[in-house]
Amino acid sequence: MAKGSGIIERSLVSDDQIMEEENLVMDGIDISGRWNTMLKSRVHAQPKWEAWDTVRESFIGSSIDNCIQCGMCTAGCTVAHEISEFNPRQFIYWVRTGRRDELIKQADVIWRCVGCYICTNHCPKGVNTAEVIESIGQWLHHTVPDSMDPAYRANHDTYRHQLLTYGRLSLPRLQAEFLNRLSRRQELFTPEMRKTVWKMLRDGRGLRTLFIGRPRHWSRSRNVLAH
Ligand code: SF4
Ligand code: SF4
Repeated sequence: MAKGSGIIERSLVSDDQIMEEENLVMDGIDISGRWNTMLKSRVHAQPKWEAWDTVRESFIGSSIDNCIQCGMCTAGCTVAHEISEFNPRQFIYWVRTGRRDELIKQADVIWRCVGCYICTNHCPKGVNTAEVIESIGQWLHHTVPDSMDPAYRANHDTYRHQLLTYGRLSLPRLQAEFLNRLSRRQELFTPEMRKTVWKMLRDGRGLRTLFIGRPRHWSRSRNVLAH
């Protein structure tokens, strides 16, 4: 039997990571071949591909290399409990093993992350899982934008644009730009919306939220955020 033949997805594990004695008897028990197979490391043979490089080189995704695929992140994940396709461990696995098609199929699902950071807190290897997932989402967004639901894309683009332009987020501006991107401007003029705007103008919140000003030294911070 070929070395390591019992390993699931054998093609992803390099030969030098497999320890296996062809003939081995211990305490009178024959544990030859696959019965004594051990892996030195669970790190897979890593294909060179763009998503992997992009995530590990990004500021927020750089801890991805520490992942040992234990699954603690998924076990505690808020969203995974509700949506079975949402699996942080698996997203990392796909990135590390070059599974582009699987990733693209779940492009919408990845954006369901609610940013609770439970995964990051659970991780025994210091992976900032929440931000690694964000980084994977960013890669999908830039590489295959059409694979995402238009509302998710508009939401992402709106937040990014508002933050990089103004340095702060203002709810009315976010809502206006989001609806504009989806060609749903008419929703800004419903009776409820007009009532809310009028109330905000009267009590001063309208102008305050629209003209909140940029943070100090914004140009320097902006450069950091833009990367
Ligand atoms: S931050 Fe996202 S991936 Fe992490 S536990 Fe929360 S919902 Fe799940
Ligand atoms: S908890 Fe950490 S090490 Fe375990 S699978 Fe998730 S990211 Fe990887």
